[in-house]
Amino acid sequence: MEKAGVINAIAFDKTGTLTEGKPKVSEITPFTTTEQELLSIVYTLEEYSTHPIAKTIVHYAKEHGIPLKIGEAFKNITGKGVQASIDGEIYYGGNLKLFEDIHADLNHHVKASVKKMQGEGKTVIIIGTESEITGIISVADTIRTTTAKALEGLKRTGVKQLVMLTGDNEGTAKMIAKDTNVNRYFSELLPEDKVDAIKQLQNEGNKVAMVGDGINDAPALATSDLGIAMGGAGTDTAMETADIVLMADNLEKLPHTVKLSRKALTIIKQNIWFSLLIKLVALTLIIPEWLTLWMAVLSDTGAAVIVILNALRLLKIKD
Ligand code: ADP
Ligand code: MG
Repeated sequence: MEKAGVINAIAFDKTGTLTEGKPKVSEITPFTTTEQELLSIVYTLEEYSTHPIAKTIVHYAKEHGIPLKIGEAFKNITGKGVQASIDGEIYYGGNLKLFEDIHADLNHHVKASVKKMQGEGKTVIIIGTESEITGIISVADTIRTTTAKALEGLKRTGVKQLVMLTGDNEGTAKMIAKDTNVNRYFSELLPEDKVDAIKQLQNEGNKVAMVGDGINDAPALATSDLGIAMGGAGTDTAMETADIVLMADNLEKLPHTVKLSRKALTIIKQNIWFSLLIKLVALTLIIPEWLTLWMAVLSDTGAAVIVILNALRLLKIKD
């Protein structure tokens, strides 16, 4: 509570925190093969990943009866995507950064499609090998209905910086930022970049809280002054790293938590100063022998009662 009471900047992970973290497949664009085949490849690639995007794609493929291929050598490329060997070829599925890393030939046709979808606030998964782009799939996540209101409440409580951290592309980040009341965002971050973003906020003189679900943001949760994990959708790592776990799985209770903590801190300080002052007055009155027994009792028990009553004011704080 003490930590929560002094927070003046809060960083939020995008996927699973500000958004539901359950994206839906919105567009499937095959380039060199059929839609069926593209889905089959991406299904195979994502089968072993626990990322929300992977779960979405696997769910979609199963629902549409897409056959699974035999994949080998599965690998997660943190913050970028996945890779696996299918039919003796290494396939990749992930964002632009991943395909730039492997020096794939992204022709302007692919790039234009990707940019268009990103501009609509969607996350794009490019699928292909080093030599050929097989196709792209876009998924869209919905913002939690409670997000905008919770952030508005935090602003009112006096939290100045509401920052979004995301591994997703600039276009999507901008769209989500606009709709959620955050006043700043950092996009295209790898997990270590999220740590740097927290450090940057701290260097600007802020006491920083970080809210996340633990998927690619556990190091940032640990670096922040106050780590807050999403309870329902969050990972075990997140809940172990964090100082606070939001069991309701949304941000609704966060403004109340911060408000209550701030008030509690103020009252604790008031009570300590009040008690010290009364004691000091009583002690001073001893010297000229003015302190009567009644005054001594009142300064002790009376002060205790006042301190308790003052603390009880916390019960009245509502959202
Ligand atoms: P965030 O939590 O902000 O979405 P992540 O670090 O989890 O950030 O992911 C960053 C980006 O990496 C995603 O937006 C996506 O483009 C890509 N990515 C990560 N994992 C996968 C995956 N399993 N399949 C496809 N793309 C992925
Ligand atoms: Mg995440």
